[in-house]
Amino acid sequence: PSAPSGPVFLNHTCFPDRVAIRDKIARYTYANIFLSANELSKEITKICNGRTNERVAFMCSNDVNYVISLWAIWLSGQIAVPLSSLHPKNALLYYANDCQSKLLLSSPEYVELMKSVSTNTGTTLHVLDDKLSLNCAQKNYNTQADLEGGLPLNFYNDSNALILYTSGTTGSPKGVVVSHKNLQYSITTLLDAWKWSPNDVILHTLPLHHVHGTVNALLCPLYVGAKVIMLKKFNANTVWSFLLGVGANPEDRKTTIYMGVPTIYYNLIDEYHKVFKDDPKMVEHIRVTLKNRIRLMVSGSAPMPATIHDKWLKISGHNLLHRYGMTECGMVLSQEYDSERFPGTVGVPLPGVSVRFAEEAAPKQEPKIVLESTNIDGKVVFNKKDPKPSEGNLKGELLVKGDGVFKEYYNLPEATRKEFTEDGWFKTGDICEYDEDVKQFRILGRKSVDIIKMGGYKLSALQIEGKLVLHPDIKECAVFGVEDEKWGQRVAALIVTKPDKEVTLDGIREWAADKMPGYWVPSIIKSVKEIPKNAMGKVNKKQLVKSMD
Ligand code: ATP
Ligand code: MG
Repeated sequence: PSAPSGPVFLNHTCFPDRVAIRDKIARYTYANIFLSANELSKEITKICNGRTNERVAFMCSNDVNYVISLWAIWLSGQIAVPLSSLHPKNALLYYANDCQSKLLLSSPEYVELMKSVSTNTGTTLHVLDDKLSLNCAQKNYNTQADLEGGLPLNFYNDSNALILYTSGTTGSPKGVVVSHKNLQYSITTLLDAWKWSPNDVILHTLPLHHVHGTVNALLCPLYVGAKVIMLKKFNANTVWSFLLGVGANPEDRKTTIYMGVPTIYYNLIDEYHKVFKDDPKMVEHIRVTLKNRIRLMVSGSAPMPATIHDKWLKISGHNLLHRYGMTECGMVLSQEYDSERFPGTVGVPLPGVSVRFAEEAAPKQEPKIVLESTNIDGKVVFNKKDPKPSEGNLKGELLVKGDGVFKEYYNLPEATRKEFTEDGWFKTGDICEYDEDVKQFRILGRKSVDIIKMGGYKLSALQIEGKLVLHPDIKECAVFGVEDEKWGQRVAALIVTKPDKEVTLDGIREWAADKMPGYWVPSIIKSVKEIPKNAMGKVNKKQLVKSMD
């Protein structure tokens, strides 16, 4: 056999005959996906004139075409830039231009949209054959040699695999360049930490332009030889039927792992109440069924109030595993698989990750590092920990080092330089605290929008949100600071009430008297039908502040 080739995490040679993907159309084995991808990669190589490291932006729905395209782009040595139909056309133009895409790939259903992106950006468009997925379900290989392809292994070591755009929650999305090495590290770390096995089946309902949907929920299972059930998009009713294993083809509905952003769990809880109407017989049945069928349910990508965690626990019997990560670093902190999970916390550094807390510095002063912690082979150690302050916990801006940390923002050298310290720590912009009592890290929010500076206080909007959703009439809320002459900032809240309920400032004040310090209670509230969120279910608080004017 020839020398090994292709990205190390395409494991089709180890699991050729196992089912990798199940989508609406069919089941596809690892070998078949590879064969289809290898064919497509030859076309890509031709269009790229034999050059490597070109950016290929691709648009597929959540089905096998996405995986074939991604693998094909890698086998031909290019950098994949996943686009999502959740984005409006002007955002797609922004991504295609920003990454200087050499080629656009599109599955047949998006051809009109992508033609217009192609015309507007002057980029070649290649439309996938509309029989690609059908052929992929039938293809077969004769010998192991048919499963070889791609460039020599050493090409992939340092080369770039992906450009993933940040969610654009705080500004324009930035193109994060992720190398094959970053991915290899991120995947193997999560496989170990969350105890993935080839027998796992993940129900996949996340967008695929983001680290959560692509790395955690797709590349991890594909690396380990597990099966991915891909639904085109999240629909609470359909997800419930898959989680409970009811409906057609129960064999294809066996799920052992589910991952979601907080909004997904909100919607599942809503749907549960709507459909099952708290019927006592169903309540018990659902809890037992979910507990027996599923071994892991994960939440992340945005803050989740402890109340939602508790509601989900009551409904499903599952203590969600919370983790914290970002496009630039992959996963950073995670609750441990076998340890107790405390709602409102996000665990400890993952193996190989080092974190620091930097205290806010006075102008022209170096920030003081008050804590440094590393995970070496599964053991969390502290290289530095200042004495616990007299009030509260140690906190600061979270800095990160580790093999999952990206190299650069695409074409933004100045932004890249700004986000790293001189000694190579990435500045996350998130304020984090270490809770000494439960030995867990907790995210207090983004420095720029979630930390409200009122008088001498620094309040965490996330902690106030966590309290407000305990109010019996409040379904959801978003807390932020608005300018105030006297106090610097004041606490404001957008509130979504439960059906037919209303809240008033006085009512909240009275209710909150024994629930939170007086200075946490919002002094401005506005009732809204819905809190606007981006494609990843995140709230753009800068926009909310403007909407209060
Ligand atoms: P942009 O960088 O464009 O403003 P973004 O930061 O939302 O967008 P992502 O990289 O998708 O883009 O998200 C990472 C951020 O999401 C983190 O910096 C953090 O603020 C938030 N986040 C992720 N996981 C959690 C979590 N479990 N709890 C609280 N916040 C989280
Ligand atoms: Mg960010």
